[in-house]
Amino acid sequence: MKKETGGNEIPAFLTELLHRQYGSAAENILRGYVQKRPVTLRANLLKTNLESVEKALSSLGFHCERAAVPFALIVTNASEEDLSRSAPYERGEIYLQSLSSMIPPFLLNAQEGESILDMTAAPGGKTCEISALTGGKAFLTACERDKIRFDRMNFNLKRQGVPHVNTICRDALTLDDFFRFDKILLDAPCSGSGTITVGERIKISEKLVQNSAILQVKLLNKALNLLKKGGILVYSTCSVLQTENEAVLQTAFKRGDCELVPPELPFDLPRLPSTPNTICIPPNELYEGFFTAILRKK
Ligand code: SAM
Repeated sequence: MKKETGGNEIPAFLTELLHRQYGSAAENILRGYVQKRPVTLRANLLKTNLESVEKALSSLGFHCERAAVPFALIVTNASEEDLSRSAPYERGEIYLQSLSSMIPPFLLNAQEGESILDMTAAPGGKTCEISALTGGKAFLTACERDKIRFDRMNFNLKRQGVPHVNTICRDALTLDDFFRFDKILLDAPCSGSGTITVGERIKISEKLVQNSAILQVKLLNKALNLLKKGGILVYSTCSVLQTENEAVLQTAFKRGDCELVPPELPFDLPRLPSTPNTICIPPNELYEGFFTAILRKK
C-alpha cells in the first residue's frame, strides 16, 4: 500500500483518481510525473524582445531554443539557479516561468486601457506577462493574501518594470463587491496535481484536493461578482483533476450569468481530454500539467 501524503511517491488515491477520470490516458500523466523538464523563460517585452534575449543568453553560453509560446525560450544546458545569476535575469529582462503557466495570461487577451484584476497573484509572473502583452498599457490590480508571497510579488513587479499596477495584500474573498473589472485572471490555488515530479517531495493529499476545490468555488464566485457585464475571466489551475477544474466551473454556470468562450491559440499544445472549450495540458517533457478556461459574463 502506497503512502497517501508527504512522500516522494505518487499517492495511491491520485493514481486511482486519474484512472477513473482519464482511463488509459492516465498513463500519459503518470509518465509525465517522472519527466525532468528543461528551464523555460519568458522574454520580458516591457524591457526587451525575444531576439535580444536569445542573443544575450547565447553570448553567455546558454543554449536556447524557441518554444511554441511566441515570447518564450527553452534553455537546455542550465538550471534555474544558473539563469538567476545571469545579467538578463538581474535586469528583469527575463522571467523564469513554465510554458503552461504562460497560457492563461495569453488567453486573457488584455488590451490597452483595460482594468484587470489578477486575483491570486503572487509571485506575480502572470501579472508581469499581462502587463507585457499590453505594452504596459493596462491598469492592473494584483491581489495576494500571503504577506511573504506579496512582498516577493512586489519585488518581481518592480524588477520587471511593470507600470500601472496596484498591489493589495488581502484575502480576495473580502474584496469590495463595489469594484468592477474588464477582465480577471483567477489563477487559483490548487493541489498541484499537474506539477508533481517523482523523486521530489509530493504534497498532494485527498484533503488538499477537497479543500482546494472548496476555495476555488468561492474565489470563482467572487471573481464573477467583480467582473463587468460582458467582461472576460480566465480560470486556471496547475491541476489536471476535474474536481478542481470542470466541477468548479459547473458551480459558476449554475449562477446563469456566464458562459464558456472557445480558447483560440495561434500555436499547438499537448492536450488531455477535457470539456469542450477548455484546455487541459498533460505534464510531459516540456509542459507542466495545467487547466485553463475562458468565461464571459452575460
Ligand atoms: N498567478 C501566480 C503567478 O503566476 O505568479 C501564481 C498564483 S498561485 C497558483 C496562487 C496564489 O493564491 C498563492 O500565492 C496563494 O497564496 C494565493 N491565495 C490563496 N488564497 C487566496 C485568497 N483567498 N486571496 C488571495 N490570494 C490567495
